[in-house]
Amino acid sequence: MLVDNHNRTINYVRLAVTDRCNLRCNYCMPAEGINFAKNDKLFTIDELSRLSEILVSQGVDKIRITGGEPFVRKDLMVLMRHLSQLEGLNDISVTTNATLIGPYIDELKELGIKNINVSMDAINRETFEKITRRDHYDTVHNNIIRLITEGFNVRINFIALEGQNTEDILPMLELTKHYGVSVRFLEEMPFNGGSKTFESIAWDYKRILAYVKERHLDYYELPSPKTSTSINYKIPGFKGSFGVIPSFSRTFCGSCNRLRISATGDVITCLYAQPSMNIRDILRGEGSTEKIKESILKAIGSRSKTGFEAQQKYKGVFANSMTSIGG
Ligand code: SAM
Repeated sequence: MLVDNHNRTINYVRLAVTDRCNLRCNYCMPAEGINFAKNDKLFTIDELSRLSEILVSQGVDKIRITGGEPFVRKDLMVLMRHLSQLEGLNDISVTTNATLIGPYIDELKELGIKNINVSMDAINRETFEKITRRDHYDTVHNNIIRLITEGFNVRINFIALEGQNTEDILPMLELTKHYGVSVRFLEEMPFNGGSKTFESIAWDYKRILAYVKERHLDYYELPSPKTSTSINYKIPGFKGSFGVIPSFSRTFCGSCNRLRISATGDVITCLYAQPSMNIRDILRGEGSTEKIKESILKAIGSRSKTGFEAQQKYKGVFANSMTSIGG
């Protein structure tokens, strides 16, 4: 079992399978993209499979596949098939922009992969295209509806962006009236692949909740798992639910159970921390399984207590993009 230096059990790994993305969301990276890693710096599918096995042997029972956009990797399903066979791995989830998932929906279902988070920051077409700088609105919309009707557990992640999409908060919430889907509103974070940073945000979770309350006076809180980053609510009579994720306010660090591994092998113990180490080259070395286990243990043995503490230690500017960190 992996237990960190603050006595928190780590059982959840977010594994980025690429840093490439086919969208260019303006709060995530510049229009021209970022300095993407060279191909040989990215894990191969065999390496990702082996790494996952090692992590599961250390007590990890949930892996979320993220990126970049996971489905830009043509060989992704090879990894998904491998993961679905791993004993002890109880939860395989995927975070995607839903532009390329269509051809894989049937097989994901067959493999028993049920939890799909889709990032969609606007229900209005023009706003969507402006934010993503691409015109994939119909594909994303149709794939979301298809995933829901096929019985996947779908959660839509919506970043509240001042001056861009907050008029879409209530219309997006309407989706939960008719569909058993969860819409989660997230705070923006200072990871945009540029040097833009900020001390505060216009739309924190309290403002989002107050705004929803103006329309839906009677929403009530739902019980959430202890390690959940979202605070979840239901509007009476609505099929689905909604939530807020205070990713900038960082109210959830005390129960954090997660570790991030980037597509190039950086081990990140907190979103707001610098990578603790890189395990790609260790994995490529001989007799590496024990060394990998030791390195993971070492990384989680020196975690910051909170994202604020991690940020203080960091000192530099967050020049990173979420497309490298995996969200
Ligand atoms: N391509 C996949 C997707 O779109 O969900 C997975 C990777 S994406 C980087 C993961 C998540 O990070 C998305 O939900 C995205 O909205 C979020 N994200 C990116 N930049 C962010 C930022 N500056 N603040 C908050 N969330 C951000």
